[in-house]
Amino acid sequence: MEKKLENQVAIITGASSGIGEACAKGLAEAGASVVVNYPVPAAKPMADDVVNAITSAGNTAISYQCDVSKEDEVIKMFTDTIAKFGTVDILINNAGLQRDSPFVDMSLEKWNYVLSVNLTGQFLCAREAIREFLKRGVDEKRSKAAGKIICMSSVHEVIPWAGHANYAASKGGIMLMMKTIAQEYAFKKIRINSIAPGAIQTPINKDAWDTSAHLQNLLKLIPEKRIGQPEDIAKAAVWLASDDSDYVNGTTLFVDGGMTLYPGFVDNG
Ligand code: NAD
Repeated sequence: MEKKLENQVAIITGASSGIGEACAKGLAEAGASVVVNYPVPAAKPMADDVVNAITSAGNTAISYQCDVSKEDEVIKMFTDTIAKFGTVDILINNAGLQRDSPFVDMSLEKWNYVLSVNLTGQFLCAREAIREFLKRGVDEKRSKAAGKIICMSSVHEVIPWAGHANYAASKGGIMLMMKTIAQEYAFKKIRINSIAPGAIQTPINKDAWDTSAHLQNLLKLIPEKRIGQPEDIAKAAVWLASDDSDYVNGTTLFVDGGMTLYPGFVDNG
């Protein structure tokens, strides 16, 4: 297989499970040295399993603990990564979580917690990444771009979601943060895009697919009639990180089996 990300270094946040894990494996397979980020000591064994899978396949990875909502920890993760690997070429801003609640009962703590990880975490990591991209500039031996950022958004950057106002607000916020910084730094050859997954089978949405009744209900929302797999997202992430997408900047790629096609209208509404 052609190693489209050879000689490049990638940080993938929230990479000890789900979509982040698949992206870490996909980018490593494409030749990148990857930092498998996890938030708390309890997640270290899972992150180390991901690292072991990557290194046993002959590729390069390390695990790294950092809570993306903490400024000092994010700065340290970038400083340590640059000290170890020389630079950072790719950031997959993937870490995210849900704390659902009817809106009228939503505590400020739940609101702030989701926003601090899903949106502020992406801001902090993107800022450190762009600082490094600007310092290094383009190195044609690595990539046509000075750096690439992929923000993990959601179909809920456009689909309202009752009972999940904090989550939907965080994803809507990611959309305009991504577009704004893409506009701000395109002239420096920095590419910033989002992936908006539909329903992907991971721990975050286990309640939606853990029984066949739940799964059948979910499939009503998906024209392709299958739940997505983390690898569906990883393939899109590898493409967006590679020079194959060199002219793609400031856009959201929906990888959702058609979830955003208003499936309720298939029989004319
Ligand atoms: P997941 O729960 O497996 O992954 C989320 C990861 O984020 C976990 O590994 C978790 O440890 C990590 N994380 C949480 N808080 C963190 C913090 N403060 N610092 C660093 N890491 C932290 O679920 P997933 O589905 O793989 O989610 C990954 C991303 O994809 C999220 O941003 C999520 O919103 C998005 N997404 C998922 C779906 C889906 O259907 N699964 C759909 C749309 C968007």
